[in-house]
Amino acid sequence: MVINNFLSKQEIVSYLQSSGAQLKALYARSAQLRDKYVGSAVYLRGLIEFSNICEKDCLYCGIRKSNATYERYELTVEQIVASAMEAERLGYGSVVLQSGEWQSGEFVEKLGQVLKAIKTKSEGKIGITLSCGEQPKEVYRYWFECGAHRYLLRIETSNKQLYESIHPRNEKHQFEKRLECLETLKGLKYQLGSGIMIGLPGQTVEMLADDLLFLQKLDVDMCGMGPYIEHADAPLSNSKKSMFSLDERYRLSLNCVAALRILMPDINIAATTALQAIKPLGREVAIEIGANVMMPNVTPVECRGDYLLYSNKPCVDESPECCASCIDHRLPLSGYKPQYRKWGDSLRYQNRSV
Ligand code: SAH
Ligand code: SF4
Repeated sequence: MVINNFLSKQEIVSYLQSSGAQLKALYARSAQLRDKYVGSAVYLRGLIEFSNICEKDCLYCGIRKSNATYERYELTVEQIVASAMEAERLGYGSVVLQSGEWQSGEFVEKLGQVLKAIKTKSEGKIGITLSCGEQPKEVYRYWFECGAHRYLLRIETSNKQLYESIHPRNEKHQFEKRLECLETLKGLKYQLGSGIMIGLPGQTVEMLADDLLFLQKLDVDMCGMGPYIEHADAPLSNSKKSMFSLDERYRLSLNCVAALRILMPDINIAATTALQAIKPLGREVAIEIGANVMMPNVTPVECRGDYLLYSNKPCVDESPECCASCIDHRLPLSGYKPQYRKWGDSLRYQNRSV
């Protein structure tokens, strides 16, 4: 059986705004629940940003279709499989294959080949998460049959009005479609991951509380959420709406991690890279207060500079080895240990089948 705690919207708002002794108590409770339910091990996923080709124009994102400043790339099947094997060599039990959103038969088929090859070459040792945006049901099903078993699709914000203010108003960027994809993925038995951006122009603490309740209602197995960070070539960076400062976005992101851990003690929660873009040890702090997943980058270093979703993205010039050494050396500072060579499925997913 899955484990939920019930909090009112007002209680969550108060958690998100807490400071001093109340904040300390919040973090202590979330860390305690994490230790009790999912344990102190930190699961690892090697992140492979395999293509920055995108058909969408999300107003916040650096690799949106209309941004001509990046060279567009697409790793070959062999390169993606080699990156996955590099992840295995470094001891990561799972990989995340992430890309821009691209709906084409060629793309679907190619990713199918990649999935099958990773399964065969690693003898099933590597767990595979996909993060390739909105796709038709038959495509999600095909990729599942080829070996993917987790899918990450952030709702970005559960507030329809806010969602519409951060996307172009056309049929390619529809809130209802995003919701439909999340339901489809769930129906297909993927381990479902979703999440939000924190500190968007016009976003309030009340909206964030609704987001956390939305994630609980959606019954996600995994969550990745982190601060929104401006990208100079993305139009949202010119917004005149009221916004939290970067420091406030960082703090709110940590508080969201802690509050979600209380709401859903048995899910996997990622310590996201965007936290590290604001504070060098942001990910480790997130682990201390309730997150239990890290995603070290294994993308070939020559592509990283063209996959900048936001400014100040960390580790752009670093090799997979460098990111591995961060996990080895920095993570233990938080008192938590990386868990090598384990898929690291979420306990909630396992609990659901009991
Ligand atoms: N194309 C896929 C996956 C790649 S984008 C998709 O959109 O689902 C992965 C995530 O990066 C997005 O879901 C979004 O939450 C995050 N992202 C994009 N631009 C960002 C920014 N400026 N600041 C913080 N996160 C951002
Ligand atoms: Fe494309 Fe994803 Fe960026 Fe939107 S967030 S522009 S879908 S890569």
